[in-house]
Amino acid sequence: MKVNLKDMTPEELRAYFIGTGEKAFRASQVFRWMHQGAGGFDEMTNLPAALRDKLGETAEIRCLNTVRVLRSALDGTVKFVFETRDGRRVESVFMRYRYGNSVCVSSQAGCRMGCRFCSSAREGLERNLSAGEITDQILLAEKDTGERAGRVVIMGTGEPFDNFENMKRFVETITRKESRGLSRRNITVSTCGLIPEMRRFAEELPQVNLAVSLHAANDETRNMLMPVNRKYGMNELLNASREYTVKTGRRITFEYALISGVNDGRACAAELAGRLRGMNCHVNVISMNPVAESGLTGGGREAAAAFAAELGGAGVQATVRRELGRDIAAACGQLRLGITAD
Ligand code: SF4
Repeated sequence: MKVNLKDMTPEELRAYFIGTGEKAFRASQVFRWMHQGAGGFDEMTNLPAALRDKLGETAEIRCLNTVRVLRSALDGTVKFVFETRDGRRVESVFMRYRYGNSVCVSSQAGCRMGCRFCSSAREGLERNLSAGEITDQILLAEKDTGERAGRVVIMGTGEPFDNFENMKRFVETITRKESRGLSRRNITVSTCGLIPEMRRFAEELPQVNLAVSLHAANDETRNMLMPVNRKYGMNELLNASREYTVKTGRRITFEYALISGVNDGRACAAELAGRLRGMNCHVNVISMNPVAESGLTGGGREAAAAFAAELGGAGVQATVRRELGRDIAAACGQLRLGITAD
């Protein structure tokens, strides 16, 4: 089996090259090519032909193939369906904002967290994605659109903290200047609330942004929506969130998908505000996107605006998140809907 070089850090690649009798500087050249989006060794024109042939026989750099591309007619959002070497489907979304482009990447094929409103969890976890597979989502999205992405959110399919090592390796690689030199401040990792990993994240990746999918103001509602809450309840989650803000000095974001008759209305907003007041946080309110099989529906943008206004009035910063790619099932919780191979 060929070794995949895209999963390696520059140091590992150097060791690999030296170990196979090559010069260390060749590893640096290959690393740059890979992270500039080269699709194969034949594109690496500053390598000797003999080395390109040798690498072609023993190694590979492409982790994913593009299976399908859906372009939103509403807002220019592009959804990608990729396939891994072993046939797993992975989805990513390229989004255009006023302040620049952003890519939402997946960290796992499937997910085992079982959130009720999320289409990604229907078939459970297939497997973790490697750092190279996460990186390739960005490189292939950029290649297709011909545009660079200055921000990355790890908010697609999967729970990034359930794949901590590879998520960390991805962050540590993509931020290297020999790679994309992406600022850690322009990367956001979203968790459903795995508390031990939240603490580890604050310790090991303190400059990266953290978002927590909260979606409820109390344990009763959160237990119903998110099974993880039965393991780590809201008190513990909010304590860990507070701890994170103190330890890192960074604001934490809470994602709150408004679901009709479940977690919306003034009483929920007041209860939530009571629990978050005083924390260095921001709440992103969105109206839940339609996921037919969940039996849950969103309350619409107006309800989301009213909910955010209630929070704001109670002293908690909140905004309504702009929804992108709704017509191509690229919005939150919709990533695996209607995906079929062409
Ligand atoms: S919302 Fe996130 S954590 Fe929950 S099931 Fe979906 S992908 Fe997994």
